[in-house]
Amino acid sequence: MNTTFDVIIVGAGPAGSACALALDGKGLNVALIDKATFPRDKVCGDAIPGQSFKAMRQIKPEWELQLRAMCKQTQIFSSRLYLSPQKSFCYQWISYAANSKRFYFDDFLFRLVKDQTNTKIFQNKQVNKLSIHRDSVTCILEDGAALSASIIAGCDGNHSVVKRSCLPPQKRDTVYAAVRAYYKGVSGITARENEFHIIKEVDGYFWIFPLPDGYCNIGFGVINDKSKKSGSQKDIRQKLAQILASERFRARFENAQAEGEIKGFGLPLWTKDRRISGERFILAGDAASLVDPIQGHGIDKAIWSGVIAANQIQRCFQHDNFQSDFMTGYENEINQRFGRELRRSYCLMKFLAKNPFILKWLIYLMPPQRVINWAVKKLKI
Ligand SMILES: Cc1cc2nc3c(=O)[nH]c(=O)nc-3n(C[C@H](O)[C@H](O)[C@H](O)COP(=O)(O)OP(=O)(O)OC[C@H]3O[C@@H](n4cnc5c(N)ncnc54)[C@H](O)[C@@H]3O)c2cc1C
Repeated sequence: MNTTFDVIIVGAGPAGSACALALDGKGLNVALIDKATFPRDKVCGDAIPGQSFKAMRQIKPEWELQLRAMCKQTQIFSSRLYLSPQKSFCYQWISYAANSKRFYFDDFLFRLVKDQTNTKIFQNKQVNKLSIHRDSVTCILEDGAALSASIIAGCDGNHSVVKRSCLPPQKRDTVYAAVRAYYKGVSGITARENEFHIIKEVDGYFWIFPLPDGYCNIGFGVINDKSKKSGSQKDIRQKLAQILASERFRARFENAQAEGEIKGFGLPLWTKDRRISGERFILAGDAASLVDPIQGHGIDKAIWSGVIAANQIQRCFQHDNFQSDFMTGYENEINQRFGRELRRSYCLMKFLAKNPFILKWLIYLMPPQRVINWAVKKLKI
């Protein structure tokens, strides 16, 4: 078995698969490793932002069309924010956006890599450790096997082993602890519309996103703040039961059936600029903490950062330069694409957390729809 590659990508979620797709045809010998066997579940709201499709178009327009044609998705035309049961406002999406269970969405991307590129794939192989040498990187897998490459892309999500091995320990990132459940038969659904509800039970919002075959993805997130002693998985599961039994939602869930378990997972929110690359490594997606602090969107950032990482990797080989200084080209590009948007979301999140009465004011003032459309567009929410 070949154990030496030009590039090793750890993690075959949206970031890793996009990176492998974008490296296709660049003359590099690429390995993609994942601890899971695909298709696999990923705890998520399953709302695929429009930018995810745009990023796929950037890699290959044909792949974006294939992704849009995938049958296991529901196109979403609008999102509605309920400030109270009676007061809501709606935002119409201009670009194509969809909801799709990650079981299908991620598997589709992974299959593109498997079937349409020369990437060497390792499934069911966990990377346990890695070490960076003067002219290579070595990954040690759970079974003791060692794989090496000139550069490694850490696309291995929130608990990234690549990040932990390559960067000094950082002050704990801000993480949302979020839960997700699948329900069939929820009543009162508006077709092709995502619902966000501001409710007293949680600081953030409760979501209901329609999926194909009559399913809905429901869930909510809370800032995992140890000092408040809240945000444990047990706490948030109990809270979900409390929300569904509340007066506001009881009737809508009366005849609905849950499918599978309620699952929780963390979202590594973007909070500040930080190192996300260095000598012979690069981080993308959740491993680089690129989740939008207001919307909780991370799939689009994962795909885009996978593409941008692939561009940087190509530059490294062209210039035969894998030094930390040279990698800042990647960080600048990420900053250029997402910096303003993420900084704005972060400030807005902080502002709303400090001034929760603003949302209450909104309920009473209820600005006209055109003001809301303007604000959403301006803030790029
Ligand atoms: C409850 C919840 C709701 C969310 N809702 C939305 C939403 O509606 N829309 C949205 O855009 N985003 C949402 N997000 C965020 C989104 O899920 C992530 O931003 C996105 O999955 C990031 O993709 P990724 O490829 O970076 O990581 P992941 O999708 O986490 O993929 C990482 C991959 O790495 C593999 N891996 C991990 N460790 C190792 C290892 N040591 N060795 C080998 N393989 C490894 C894993 O098996 C996995 O396949 C939500 C997140 C949560 C938790």
